[in-house]
Amino acid sequence: MIIDGMADRPLEEFGFKTPLEAATTPNMDKLAETGICGIMDPIKPGIRAGSDTSHISILGYDPYEVYTGRGPFEAAGVGVDVLEGDIAFRCNFSTANDDGVITDRRAGRIRERTEELANAMNSIDIEGVHIIFKESTGHRAVLVLRGDGLSDQVSAADPKYDGKKWTRVEPLDETQEARKTADILNQVVEKSYDILKDHPLNLERIENGENPGNIILPRGAGAVPHVQAFSDKYGLKAACIAETGLIKGIGKITGMDIIDIEGATGGVDTNLNNITQGILDTAAKDYDFLLINIDGADEAGHDGNAQEKLEFIEKADQVVGKLMGLEDLYFILTADHSTPLSVMDHTGDPVPLIINGPDIRVDDVKIYNERAASKGGLCRIRGSDVMNILMDLMNKSTKFGA
Ligand code: ZN
Ligand code: ZN
Repeated sequence: MIIDGMADRPLEEFGFKTPLEAATTPNMDKLAETGICGIMDPIKPGIRAGSDTSHISILGYDPYEVYTGRGPFEAAGVGVDVLEGDIAFRCNFSTANDDGVITDRRAGRIRERTEELANAMNSIDIEGVHIIFKESTGHRAVLVLRGDGLSDQVSAADPKYDGKKWTRVEPLDETQEARKTADILNQVVEKSYDILKDHPLNLERIENGENPGNIILPRGAGAVPHVQAFSDKYGLKAACIAETGLIKGIGKITGMDIIDIEGATGGVDTNLNNITQGILDTAAKDYDFLLINIDGADEAGHDGNAQEKLEFIEKADQVVGKLMGLEDLYFILTADHSTPLSVMDHTGDPVPLIINGPDIRVDDVKIYNERAASKGGLCRIRGSDVMNILMDLMNKSTKFGA
């Protein structure tokens, strides 16, 4: 169970405690008291992990090998059945004028009925490539190019600022594949405007004084990597309960079942009751491993909202309390990185980790936070150690040597 971005640095307004130290977390403390604790560098000491690369590492894959960009994971996370070799992009629905100038990169923060625009996009026909387009949350979407001779070495069409013309996509290396892919992408962007500018939904939006989603701007290219299925790697049937497309995508690409939870927003307003119930229902099924990600603390960290982060940690503690009744399992509680309020982004500070379960060598740590956990029996480990330790505890490891 990963409480995204939960770890932090000492904060003056909490009397130089971290939010986790300042929060009241009786359940996490109980889990620590009856388990073994440590701190973890998700990738390696000092490396600022993204949520994606951290999860990849914790699951025992090498992020430097597997991670080709955010696109493939986002695409898998919104339900595109990506195949090895596909080139995937994150996209915005944006608003352009007839000169190709982007007047609103988020198309008036369009939220509803974007699947209608996505369906229209799927009618684009370009020779030699299969185009898959799917809406994500809000103004976001994903584009997947499938075919021979493609490359992820292409630049973004997104100009990053309103008031600029969309950027023509350029190859980032000298290969024929990169040139071909850049050419296809430029055609996709041009055609998106032709197809979407008079789409009934957009005409309706204009009439209502809202910005239309009349162009799509791809960025974040990545080739779908070859990834050994989690179940093959460990012999564990696994499910993923996550809120964001990015983490669901990691579950999907590693071959886990994805359990969707109603009301899981990825924010501090998420429906934790539904998430808890979803975990309990899934655990009762025939799974050997659950990857759980709860995102709100990270959001509060990025927003620099100390009170919100502290309160969200206390709510997450209630979830932990409701899961502690589950028997005959190993419960690992950690974070995927620190998202310090003072930095408002991820840092390389290690995160606290507890393993609780049968035959654990319980240590002397009695509370759960960054500093207390550093005195625990696991000492300081890396994300890539977690699955090895778990497999060993479950007596599913094989011996190295005689
Ligand atoms: Zn994260
Ligand atoms: Zn984050």
